[in-house]
Amino acid sequence: MARVYNFSAGPSMLPEAVLKTAQAELLDYHGSGMSVMEMSHRSKWFDEIITNTEAAMRRVLNIPDNYKIGFFQGGATQQFAMVPLNFMTTGTADYLVTGNFSKKAAEEAAKFGTARIAASSKDRNFTYIPDVQAIDYDPQASYIHICQNNTIFGTRYTEVPQVDGIPLIADMSSMICSEPVDVRKYGAIYFGVQKNIAPAGMAVAIVREDLLGRSARGLTPEQIPTMMNYTTLLKAGSMYNTPPCWCIYMTGLVMDYLEREVGGLEEMHRRNAAKAKVLYDYLDSQDFYRNPVQKEYRSLMNVTFTSPDPETDKAFCAEAAEAGLVNLKGHRLVGGMRASIYNAMPAEGVDALVAFMEKFRAAHQ
Ligand SMILES: *Cc1c(COP(=O)(O)O)cnc(C)c1O
Repeated sequence: MARVYNFSAGPSMLPEAVLKTAQAELLDYHGSGMSVMEMSHRSKWFDEIITNTEAAMRRVLNIPDNYKIGFFQGGATQQFAMVPLNFMTTGTADYLVTGNFSKKAAEEAAKFGTARIAASSKDRNFTYIPDVQAIDYDPQASYIHICQNNTIFGTRYTEVPQVDGIPLIADMSSMICSEPVDVRKYGAIYFGVQKNIAPAGMAVAIVREDLLGRSARGLTPEQIPTMMNYTTLLKAGSMYNTPPCWCIYMTGLVMDYLEREVGGLEEMHRRNAAKAKVLYDYLDSQDFYRNPVQKEYRSLMNVTFTSPDPETDKAFCAEAAEAGLVNLKGHRLVGGMRASIYNAMPAEGVDALVAFMEKFRAAHQ
């Protein structure tokens, strides 16, 4: 059986070494006589899994002691609601809208208070990131929310807002663990794991302790639905109810892989930057395909491009799939193509894509 190069935006590729470990441990996890899918979340084996996963994530992301880590169901989309429910204490927050997910986050927050659009890049179809230093932030804002890498439009922040006394909250779903981050710049970070870490079914939140115990203006902390209350869930160590056990296990394997096989996030960043450079250098070298993003904001994870017309885009995706390069169709909001080149995409996959693009160009231009 041949494995393809899978450019899906998520769920997406996982490191082959991790899949093999999961396969080897599938029927009998560490002498338990059962798979992780079958064991009690209160068992000593699972206790070891969740403890080790959290500890490894703390080391890999260099998370300080005054931040708690939680493993939740509901995806990143549920975090869009949990953030305002738990943190919108003044009844207003600043949202920077740089794509579809940050727009959805703002719409969800507007159900609980004022989600003020402090800046937006909609005027140029989200092909850039607003200058974060030039934004007029609301001094009353409970927090500032950003989406650090815009999965659909292929942009990323190169600098993040920093305002004294106003915590920054970031959706890092599509760039988490792709490069080092300075966690201390954030009040909270959250991400769905299915882009760069694990199978679908879990979101992780990293929350600074002093933000806990609060609630949206007009609610008491006790009125927040239990499964959306960071304080309750984090206090219970993500074990208030049955957690997404398999996703936690897979996350642990990937953290282990990042630490031991890759050697940490600086090396991961170097590899990701090198992969992205191959693709962007090729895009810049010809005039058949076009990438619409302002160069300094180009994402290292999601690379968008179009051919001269939608019919040719369609032919491109079909022929690429036949050549073992799958899931290259762009998001319906953007059209064209999108190559998601997350951590687990090997350099050879990007080389194969560029070789295919050039062959296709020569045949169609
Ligand atoms: C995929 C994605 C989401 C949505 O995640 P779900 O887990 O499907 O809810 C949110 N934000 C970003 C940046 C994403 O890439």
